[in-house]
Amino acid sequence: EEEAKVVGKKEGADSKGLEYTKAGNFPNWYQQVIHKSEMIEFYDISGCYILRPWSFSLWEAITEFFDGRIKKMGVKNCYFPMFVSEAKLNAEKDHVEGFAPEVAWVTRSGDGELEQPIAIRPTSETIMYPAYACWIRSHRDLPLLLNQWCSVVRWEFKHPTPFLRTREFLWQEGHTAHGSYEEADKMVMDILGHYKAIYEELLAVPVIKGYKTEKEKFAGGFRTTTVEAYVPATGRAIQGATSHNLGKNFGKMFKIEYEDKQGQKQIPWQTSWGFTTRSIGVMVMVHSDDTGLVLPPRVAPIQVVIVPIVMSGMNLDTLSGAASDLASQLRASGVRVELDDRDNYNPGWKYNYWELKGVPLRLELGPKDLEKRQVRVVRRDTNAKLDVPWSVLPQQIALLLVQMQHEMLERATALRDAALKTVVEWKDFVPTLQLGHMALTPFCNDEEATHFEELVKEKSKAEALAASGAEAEDARTSTSVAAKTLCIPFEQPPLPEGTKCFISGKLATCWVLWGRSY
Ligand code: AMP
Repeated sequence: EEEAKVVGKKEGADSKGLEYTKAGNFPNWYQQVIHKSEMIEFYDISGCYILRPWSFSLWEAITEFFDGRIKKMGVKNCYFPMFVSEAKLNAEKDHVEGFAPEVAWVTRSGDGELEQPIAIRPTSETIMYPAYACWIRSHRDLPLLLNQWCSVVRWEFKHPTPFLRTREFLWQEGHTAHGSYEEADKMVMDILGHYKAIYEELLAVPVIKGYKTEKEKFAGGFRTTTVEAYVPATGRAIQGATSHNLGKNFGKMFKIEYEDKQGQKQIPWQTSWGFTTRSIGVMVMVHSDDTGLVLPPRVAPIQVVIVPIVMSGMNLDTLSGAASDLASQLRASGVRVELDDRDNYNPGWKYNYWELKGVPLRLELGPKDLEKRQVRVVRRDTNAKLDVPWSVLPQQIALLLVQMQHEMLERATALRDAALKTVVEWKDFVPTLQLGHMALTPFCNDEEATHFEELVKEKSKAEALAASGAEAEDARTSTSVAAKTLCIPFEQPPLPEGTKCFISGKLATCWVLWGRSY
């Protein structure tokens, strides 16, 4: 009875399906979607999760896509150790200050204390760049373009959320060195383009490209570029992925030096960039519904499931023969298809099972369909039903998969765009956030910018708390009601002359995007 009172619980829900609704209790809904769809298994160390094949195959799809693209750019994969000495970790002051609170340390081996504690990489700049100093001696050694696929550990103090904020996460980290600023900048922008493509073309999640402000940029870097996503159901933004122009800071600290064509000593321009398993969580939050996961066709491990509808007294063999024929036709045309011919479950049970797992298309084949030589196709995202003749099935399925992929991005984009508001005066700022919207504001962005960002954070929190119904922090996700800058979007609307910064009152120099975020 106690449990039934929990907010947002569905009435009469059975324990196989989701017991919570997305709108009613988002955190519980999310936990159930990822667990019941067999993406995640929970683990006894806080912030760590088991990625089961259903989610790992999404990561593989992302890996394959991005890895192919960076290899075309001449980037090579490699692998560096996961441990870093204290001395190396501390070499770049701003960098270590940024990461220190989250670094996990190994202090013991077996029974004995280590003489020197060693850190587990939170990111690998300080591990890779001492080697770069050995390898980069001449302009002929440039550009150096390396990437590694690995996991990193950040002992986050914020409440963990599977995929979005975990203590160990999978990522790729690219680290490049160049002879000119322009080349480094092109690298960072090209990579950001690929990150946007992963989100939009694979995961059907729209993102906004922009620069991070000084306050939010990568610790120790020169300039950070980002793609920012938005979760309509919670009205929260989330940093999708970042690429950093590191300038020469790390080069100076790690004494990376080379002789240019004129024989002059130079420090290279460096970049680093990372894309993580967070993206999978963003995709789940954006697309999934009260029935379960909804997977974009391009990344779905299974795109089509065929469910034979066996009636009592019918010839089972003809049905399963036709079903496996259709399956092989689809397989031959490149579709990832599964024939669910398990005889210990009925069709209704199977529908629920595959809906929970988010398979894009379900094909139902019953005795009537057999007679008419057709199959019923049901779309996971819209529940739209369509009867398709066997003769044109592969073409129709290919078309439907492309359509569904496209429409998922379109729907998410429409919801995101509806949440983008222009705010020019402070008085409209918190009310906009209260509606779950993001706010694009004129901003001074001068040397006092960080101070004013802090001020916005404090003021927005205080005002939201004063407004009815707001809670300081969501205990489940430790997300705050305070606003922060998401980015300075590349696409800037015109800024009329004389426009004032909405917080400092000084002359505005750009538009900045704000939101509550994860
Ligand atoms: P950074 O190296 O700090 O620029 O991080 C690179 C990217 O990793 C960020 O843009 C986030 O999208 C993602 N990220 C940061 N922290 C976490 C975390 N705890 N779990 C999953 N992804 C993360």
